Amino acid sequence: MHLRYSYRIYPTASQRPVLARTFGCARVVFNDALAARKEARKGGLPYPRSTDLQKLVITEAKKTAERAWLASVGVDPLIQSLRDLDTAYRNFFESVSGRRADRPVGLPRFKSKRDARQSLRFTRNGFRIRSNGKLYLAKIGDVRVKWSRALPADPSSVTVVLDAAGRYHASFVVDVEPDHLPEVDAEIGIDLGLTTYAVLSDGSVIHNPRFLRKAEKKLKAAQRELARKAKGSKNRAKARRKVAKAHAKVADTRRDWLHKQAIGIIRENQAVYLEDLNVHGLGRGRLAKSVHDAGWSAFRRLLEEKAARYGRHIGIVPRAYPSSQLCSACGHRDGPKPLAVREWACSACGVLHDRDLNAARNILAAGRADRLNAPGGPARPGVAIPRRARPVERGTHLGDLPRTGVRAAGAGGIPVL
Ligand SMILES: [Zn+2]
Repeated sequence: MHLRYSYRIYPTASQRPVLARTFGCARVVFNDALAARKEARKGGLPYPRSTDLQKLVITEAKKTAERAWLASVGVDPLIQSLRDLDTAYRNFFESVSGRRADRPVGLPRFKSKRDARQSLRFTRNGFRIRSNGKLYLAKIGDVRVKWSRALPADPSSVTVVLDAAGRYHASFVVDVEPDHLPEVDAEIGIDLGLTTYAVLSDGSVIHNPRFLRKAEKKLKAAQRELARKAKGSKNRAKARRKVAKAHAKVADTRRDWLHKQAIGIIRENQAVYLEDLNVHGLGRGRLAKSVHDAGWSAFRRLLEEKAARYGRHIGIVPRAYPSSQLCSACGHRDGPKPLAVREWACSACGVLHDRDLNAARNILAAGRADRLNAPGGPARPGVAIPRRARPVERGTHLGDLPRTGVRAAGAGGIPVL
């Protein structure tokens, strides 16, 4: 399986302009190829093949006066830029044909030099890690890397990224063997909330972290300051850098926090069930801010990545499943509840439910049923209610559920990423 490992890198003052030029060339090649494909489409011509495009926008273009400067940078990142365009098209075609379950993907767009993130990819031919720890990039030279953790294997490619805060990163793709954890009996359902980050079917709650709120407050203050500065002034440029830095801080903090949450859940549970929320649909509506704040899709992606790596199962419960309408105690469908309703009593059995916990339990039940019925499902149905699962609402019929294993020991303390 492929994993990404990112590190800060520090190009020298003389390397930075070369990198900037290479970013520019990769962007131009990408845009030229995209324009050629759009042109062909408009003219009703067949979709140009990648090899023909490469000839047109790199090899032949270099011979022309207006693109001669393409020859001044390494060719590897330029070819990779075209591969990125191919991938973008493939994602789009898969998305329109419905073969992609993920969020809808639009047509590739032209890149701009004002994009917040600039990137370049080098394959094996274009980079090397020196014995002195420096990263050699073809036509750029040896770049200092801050190795915050060890690379587990030889990387197959590296992407050099310049972010909006002016920081450079090297993101390596490494092929590693999955690192399966000892099996445990516990399984869990997660309801992603709005008032809290998430509620788990065992009754535990993941709160939105306060330090993240703090970082966000700082970001807002920096944004207000930026808005007050005169356009085109030096102070405005300074304020803009400050905003970018605060942004980067929020993003980094959130990523670290999400990693920690995801690995904790994966370590303790053999199977994790989530609802297939239409995060991207929600994102366009009124809930936009809190949805994006919570970074739900990033959380799900992290859970999926870690599950694949550590041999756990992730089950996605379809969006249509009425997790907040069903009574998790008796199964009665109680009808839709507006978001403001945080607690409700089942009209059939009278159990009082916390909305999110009830939903998490329903997600667990639905995911588990789905997994057990699936062909090639687990040979040993590990139906277990973790010991931590205590009824927090009055009268929940926990006794109705099989109560076999407890949270297996042994999963804790295993060094995981
Ligand atoms: Zn009920």
